[in-house]
This record gives sequence, structure tokens and C-alpha cells, in this order.
Amino acid sequence: MTDPSPAGQHTLRRHNSALVLRTVLDTPGISRAAIAAHTGLAKATVSSLVDRLIAADLVAETGLVARPGRGRRSTGLAPSVTGPHGLGVEIGVDYLATCLVDLTGQVHDHRVRAADNRTRPPSRVLGATVRAINTALRHATAKGVPVGGIGIAVPGLVESSTGRLRVAPNLGWRELDIVAAVGGRLDRSGLPVLVGNEADFAAAAELGRSPSDGPRDFVLVSGEIGIGAGLVVDGRPFPGVRGFSGEIGHLTVDPAGPECTCGARGCLERLAGLDRIMREAGVWQADPQARPPAATMDTLIEHLADGDAAALAAVRAAGRWLGIALSSVINMVDVPCVVLGGSYASLAPWLRAPLAAELDRRVISAAWSPVRITSSTLGASAAVRGAAAASVQSIIADPDGYLTAAG
Ligand SMILES: [Zn+2]
Repeated sequence: MTDPSPAGQHTLRRHNSALVLRTVLDTPGISRAAIAAHTGLAKATVSSLVDRLIAADLVAETGLVARPGRGRRSTGLAPSVTGPHGLGVEIGVDYLATCLVDLTGQVHDHRVRAADNRTRPPSRVLGATVRAINTALRHATAKGVPVGGIGIAVPGLVESSTGRLRVAPNLGWRELDIVAAVGGRLDRSGLPVLVGNEADFAAAAELGRSPSDGPRDFVLVSGEIGIGAGLVVDGRPFPGVRGFSGEIGHLTVDPAGPECTCGARGCLERLAGLDRIMREAGVWQADPQARPPAATMDTLIEHLADGDAAALAAVRAAGRWLGIALSSVINMVDVPCVVLGGSYASLAPWLRAPLAAELDRRVISAAWSPVRITSSTLGASAAVRGAAAASVQSIIADPDGYLTAAG
């Protein structure tokens, strides 16, 4: 404890509001009396807190539920589906995506626009981001959906204490305050905006998809033009001390390999990223500065399914490089499961065998504890969903803060 002073009434209510909301989210249909029994709060306190959460449309009554062993029935409570939604935005290397996530984690209005963000200056990409957010806000308003906050996913290193983007090698961006650049230009002022790394958001979305029966310890490796990783240990994302962990795309796998956008040589993403796979597979021979057309991924998968030798060799090689990098990660941090995310999820049927072979060969513990390899079912939408969910989580963690800001 760093603060020895007693909690004031306001702090206490803030804490208890969050506790009650968390309980309703974890146990939809729960009654006020059951919340009191579960949390140890007085029934009158629970009633008063629930009334405020209902007034803010964070909680809704679900009708009468039976109380086992008693004649009377009580009113059930659930997270409100019409309550505040989080708006997620992902600035990808070659696309811009948006979606809305409600308090129960349901995703709405997922939209993806192709855009080569590598060839445009940051100001133009951020201008397009502002327009995409304003469009999503207009659509939400037209449907009567309130937006409570915005989460922005970027393919780069975001400092957790400041929200500042330090570097995004594949975009060629450095030292950007995205919150300031975007927040001041929105049609709605005062909306909280948070920024984070796309792979960290993707890992959080993967964890949120199956919190009870899914893996609680894994590394999610998200393969696109760049390669990012999100580490989850004991059911909690591990972003690193300053938020910079997971830069697996820049692990050196071949010191004499091709030059990388980060300035080093032989980084994993130069050897196992989508650019390399597409070129080696012969499905994309275009100008090296141009992005692969969106249809190229479909073409690659068709070629793989047809048994095309060049496509199979390209994905096998990527799987081997990926296995070399991941074996170092697993030897270091001891996580038992790899989740293939982003476009790697679509390539999993062909990536899995060469990846598993390298992990078997190189992970010291594999002899008695083989590494599990699974695929994300969220695929390329994981990061934008995770970004939206993070802004909802900010509301859930502090409903009183949301109430105050919403006036
Ligand atoms: Zn690099």
C-alpha cells in the first residue's frame, strides 16, 4: 500500500460501483440480494448503486427470476446491450478498420477499408483515421448506440505511461502523439481515446473470447506484412514494463539476412512476413514498394489448396523461420501455447507442420511438454476488437468516472 490514508466516501462509492458492475457482468441475471451476498455489501448500498448503474444504462433489469427454495421471485440484472459501446480503430499497414463492441463483448459494425498507409505521410493517414471515426460515430448515433470511448490499435511501440507512439517501423512513423492528433479533431469532444499496440489488443481479444475454457498462458503471433506478438501469462496480458514487449517481428533469425525497416538485418518479419510469402509464392511480383492487393491472400490460399509447389515452399519456409523465433521466445518465457493470429490463422493448415517441427527440435521442454499450436478464430479482426474492448473495459473498471464524464 502506498497510500495510508483511509478511502473517502467518494473513493469508496467509486470502488463499489465497479465491484457491482463487475459482478453483474460475470453473472448475468443475478439479483440485487445475490450481489449483496456475493460482494459482502449491504443490500441498501447495492440497491442504490444498481439504481445509478441502471440510470446510466450500464445495467438493465431482465425481468423476474426464480429464487431456488423460496416462493418469491426477484428481478434479474444484466449488462445493458444498449449501454455505452467502445469504438475500436486499427491503423494497419495496408488497411484501416473500425468496429463497435458493447458491454457484453458483442461486436457490431466491423468495417475494413484497404489503404496503403506505408506510402502516405502520417498526417494523411491520421486524417483518414479521424474521418473513419467520425463516420462510425455518425452510424452509431443514427442507430441510437452511445459510444463511451475510443481505442486505437497501431502496429508499433506505444509507451504505456504516455500513450505515445515511439516507432512503427512498417509505417515509417516515429514519435507521434496520436491521442492529441486524433482526439482534438473528432465531431464529438470529450470522448476518452486510448492507443495501444495491435498485437497486445489482439491477445487481449483472444483472451476475452473464451475467458473460462480458452488458454490462459499463450503467445499470440499475428502475421501480416509485419509480425507482432502479444504475451498472456496467467490470464493477464504482459505488455512489458513500458509497453514495448512482443516485438517478435524484429527478432534476428538470420544475421546475414535482408535489411529490415527497423535498421537491422535478418529480422523475422523480413523472412516470414506476408510480403516475403507472397513474393516467394509467386502470387505477387509487383513493385516492392507497393502493397499486395487484397485479393492476393485469396489467390495464395487457392494455390496452397491446389498443391502449388512454390506456394507450399513459401509457407513452409515462413513456418520454419517462425518456429526458430518462437522457440527462443518459449525457451525464455515458458508459455505452453502458440496462437496463430492475423493472416497466419488463414495459413495455419500449411504453417503448422513446419512450425511444430522447429518447436519440437528447439524448445528444451518440448520433450516432455510439447507446445500446443492453435489458431485464432478472430483472425484479422482481433486487434480492432481488442481496441474497442479496451475502451469498454476502461468504463467497466470505473463506471463512476464514465458517469461523471457523461454528465
Ligand atoms: Zn527489424
